Amino acid sequence: MGTRVISFYEQFECLATKCPNTCCRGWRISIDNETRERYEKEEGAEGFRLKATMTFGEDKEVRRFFGRCANETKEGLCRLQLKGREELMPEICRIYPRRSIRIGDDEEVTFELSCPMTARLFLENMSDIRMVDYEGDEIAPLWIQHKFNEKHYDDILAIRDKVIDYINSDAGISELMSNLYYYYRKLHSHVMAQDIDIKTVPIMGHIPDREEYKYTFYSFAIIDKIIMNDLKDGRFSFQDALYDFSKAYNKIFGKMTAAQADDFFNDKCEEIINKYPKLHDKYKAYLAYYTYQMLFSSYEYVTFYKEYLLGNVYLMLIMTSDVVDFVNGKDMDDIERQIKNLNNIEKRLRHNLSIKKNISHRLEEEFIKIKEGYKF
Ligand code: SF4
Repeated sequence: MGTRVISFYEQFECLATKCPNTCCRGWRISIDNETRERYEKEEGAEGFRLKATMTFGEDKEVRRFFGRCANETKEGLCRLQLKGREELMPEICRIYPRRSIRIGDDEEVTFELSCPMTARLFLENMSDIRMVDYEGDEIAPLWIQHKFNEKHYDDILAIRDKVIDYINSDAGISELMSNLYYYYRKLHSHVMAQDIDIKTVPIMGHIPDREEYKYTFYSFAIIDKIIMNDLKDGRFSFQDALYDFSKAYNKIFGKMTAAQADDFFNDKCEEIINKYPKLHDKYKAYLAYYTYQMLFSSYEYVTFYKEYLLGNVYLMLIMTSDVVDFVNGKDMDDIERQIKNLNNIEKRLRHNLSIKKNISHRLEEEFIKIKEGYKF
């Protein structure tokens, strides 16, 4: 069995009580069946306490008090971990922020960037985003893909290498977003038709009606609705770091028409990329990081196309947070601010299932149906 990890894997260390955006807050934490059985078997005061922390209903979650996990101590630490009872922590808590997937005899481990420490490591290591062989202690897989097909697995890895090489070429981010879209769309139709060997599909094949490359991969009308509707999702509060972003965003874009917003976003992206080339590197690194995660986790369902479209939404939101900061005269070299923006966008959007569902639905209605005339 081979384990591969993201290049900065071994630098991770949990910030514990110093964490500014702890994973013990703001999530719904489900309790997997194995952990639930341990709770049922646990006796005495601990057993009583654990059972009281479970929600009612079939799908068990950890109860939250004041938005925080019921097992969090006043000092902000995990009570179960402090007691050395890690086996009683839900599986997701034992593994997070690792994202570990097993396919066949291989395992790949990256990080969710919804943790402030991993967002920092990503930004500090963005010139070296790659998977490396790992020989350390075994890392428990969060997902196991049970159906294994060697040819399909090899195809996925070959496709991924090809896409990563393209991202690492000197192609600009607007060109990458656009051309990879056509590529995944083509792959999707070949997978559906099962007509050719998918790894032979070239990235730069025929691209219909080539338009000028723009930073507005999506019309800004879609991004605006995501920020002003989906992002809020009824739970947007004054304590939420994205509340400030949404207010600042609305001040700038709220007065514009959709066409003006498209032009404004495009012009500002060009301006900041020229002035701060490191931001361009960040967008490319994010695309590479997303590609590593996406192609491995789409293995079973072959949903590259849909997942890729979601990735372009997250990328445009990261770019939007930079545009808003730039227009408001913030220091664009401030890494702490970059970490906060990235960490919050990932936590709030990418790892919130109901928001992800809303965004997918929006893309189906407002992008795919219009562009492709069908639903996936
Ligand atoms: S979010 Fe990351 S750094 Fe913060 S407590 Fe959780 S694992 Fe640790």
